Amino acid sequence: MYTTDNISILIYSLVKLIIMNKLALLNGNIITINKTKPRAEALLVYFDKIVKVGTTEEIKSIIDTDTNIIDLKGRTLIPGFIDCHAHPRMYGLSLLRVDCRTPPMKSIKDIIQIISQRAQEKNKGVWIQGSGYDDFKLLEKRHPNRFDLDKAAPNNPVIITRLCGHISVVNSLALEMAGISKDSKDPEGGQIDINSRTGEPNGVLRGSARAPVYEQIPQTNIETLKKGIELAVKEFHARGVTSVSDAGVESSKVMKAYRELQENGMKLRVNLMMSFNLLEELTRVGIQTGYGDEWLKIGAIKLYCDGSFSGRTAAMFEPFLDTPDNVGIMYTTQHELDETVYKCHRAGYQVGIHAIGDRAISTVLNSYEAALKKNPKKDHRFRIEHCGINNSNIINRIKELGVIPVPQPIFLYGEGESYRAGLTPEMQEWAYPFKTWLDNDIHVSFSSDCPATSGEELINPLLGIYVAVNRITDAGNEVGPTQKIDVESALKAYTLNSAYATFEENLKGSIEEGKLADFVVLSEDPATIEVTKLKEIKVHMTFIGGKIVYQNI
Ligand SMILES: [Zn+2]
Repeated sequence: MYTTDNISILIYSLVKLIIMNKLALLNGNIITINKTKPRAEALLVYFDKIVKVGTTEEIKSIIDTDTNIIDLKGRTLIPGFIDCHAHPRMYGLSLLRVDCRTPPMKSIKDIIQIISQRAQEKNKGVWIQGSGYDDFKLLEKRHPNRFDLDKAAPNNPVIITRLCGHISVVNSLALEMAGISKDSKDPEGGQIDINSRTGEPNGVLRGSARAPVYEQIPQTNIETLKKGIELAVKEFHARGVTSVSDAGVESSKVMKAYRELQENGMKLRVNLMMSFNLLEELTRVGIQTGYGDEWLKIGAIKLYCDGSFSGRTAAMFEPFLDTPDNVGIMYTTQHELDETVYKCHRAGYQVGIHAIGDRAISTVLNSYEAALKKNPKKDHRFRIEHCGINNSNIINRIKELGVIPVPQPIFLYGEGESYRAGLTPEMQEWAYPFKTWLDNDIHVSFSSDCPATSGEELINPLLGIYVAVNRITDAGNEVGPTQKIDVESALKAYTLNSAYATFEENLKGSIEEGKLADFVVLSEDPATIEVTKLKEIKVHMTFIGGKIVYQNI
C-alpha cells in the first residue's frame, strides 16, 4: 500500500539519484570539435550525457550544491578518442602470450631465449604462441625460421606472428602437425617460404598458407578471451580511448565476451566489425550494421584484399623499391571480391575492406563501384581499412564514391623507415596522404590497428596525432612531408570523423549538448604546444558515460 510517507521516500530517493548523477567540469580549456562552438570553459553532465556546454559562469549559474564539481584549473579537455580500427582482443591475448615486439626484443637470439623460457614452463606438446616481431628491426634483418624456433622449443609446437598479423613463423613440429612439407603448393592468397638450397619450407608462412596451422591450435576459451580483453581495455583507458572498433570478429564468442564484461561493469564502447564467415548467421537472425546499443554495436563486415606494406605483402602496381621482383599478394580476385561485397551490401551491411597497396585499393574501389551501381545507396559509408598507397585516380574515386579511408598515422612512425625503404620520395607523398584527403573533403577516420604495429606504444592516439602533424618516423626522418596536417584536423579525425565511420556522429565524437559524456583531460593543450612535443602530452583523466575510468594526476 502506498502511504504519503512511502511516496515521499520514493520521491526523495529519485531526486537524490538525479542529483548524484550531476557532474560539472569548470575552468577548463575545452576543445569541442564542434564547429559552431569550437571552444568552451565548462560543461555539465547529467547521468551519461552532456547537457550544457558554455562558460564557467554559465554552468555555475545552473548548478546546485548537490552537483559534483571538478575544477579543471585551466587544463585541456577534448572528446574521448575513438579508435576506429584496432584489435583489443588480439592485443589482450598478445599480453597473455609471448611478447615478441621489437623493441623490447632486439634480435632473433632474444626471441629464441624468451620462447625457450616459456617452453620450460609448459608441458611437452602444448602450443606456444607469440606475436609482434618486426624482421625489419631485428638485428639479423630477417624473419626467424623453423630452425630458430626448434632451438627454442623442440618439443612444443610454436607459432609467432609478425606485427602486421599477416605473416607467421612456425617450428618443425607445427609444420608437421599442419601437414606442410616440401610437396605442399602455395594456396591462393598465401605463400609457403622455402629454403632455396633444400626446397624445404623454412617455417615462414604468409597469408592463407597459415590456415592448416590454425586448425591445429586449440580454440581460446571465453574466460581467457575476457581476461585478455580486460587487460587491453585498461590500456585504452590510459590512452584516453573511449570507443573502439574491433576490426575482425570471427566468432559470436567474442561478442559474448564483450557483452558479459560490459554487464559486469567494463566501460569501453565497442563497434564490432564482423568477419564474412558470420554473414549468413547474422542475416538469418536479422542482425545488421547498427544493431546493438551505445556500448556494443554491430559495425561493418570486414573483408581482406591484401597483406601489409612493411611485410612486403601489400598488393602494389609497382614493385617495392627494396624488393624489385615483388608486387605483393592479392588475397582475392576482382570477381570474387565483387561478389562478396555485393552480397554484404545487398544484405544491408556496411563494408570495410583491408587494402594497403594501390593495386588492392583500386580493386576495392572497383567492387564498391560495381555494388553501388547494381544497388544504389546514398549513405553506405563503405570503408577502406588502412588505405595506404594512393594515387590521384584513387583519391578522385574515393571522393566520388563517398568512401571512408581508415588509416593509422602510427604506421608512419613505428614502420616509417620501412615505408621510406620501400617507396621513392615521390611515392612517400602518396602514402597515407592525410592532407590531400582532407583537401578533397574526404572523411578520414584515424585509428591505431593495435597491436599490428611496431614499437612499445601501440595505442597512443596522441602519438598518432604527432605523426599526422609532423610526418616523422621513429628514427626521426620525414616521410611525405607535404601531407602534414594541422592539429585540430588530426584531433577531429581521431574523434568526430571516427564516430562518422560507425554512423555515430550524432551520439559522440564532440563536446556537444545531448552527446555521450565521453571525454579526456590532458596535461597540455595540443593546439598550442610545440608540434614536436605532441607525443609527450599525457592523459590525466578519461571519462566514459560521465564516469571516471582512468585518472593519473
Ligand atoms: Zn587491423
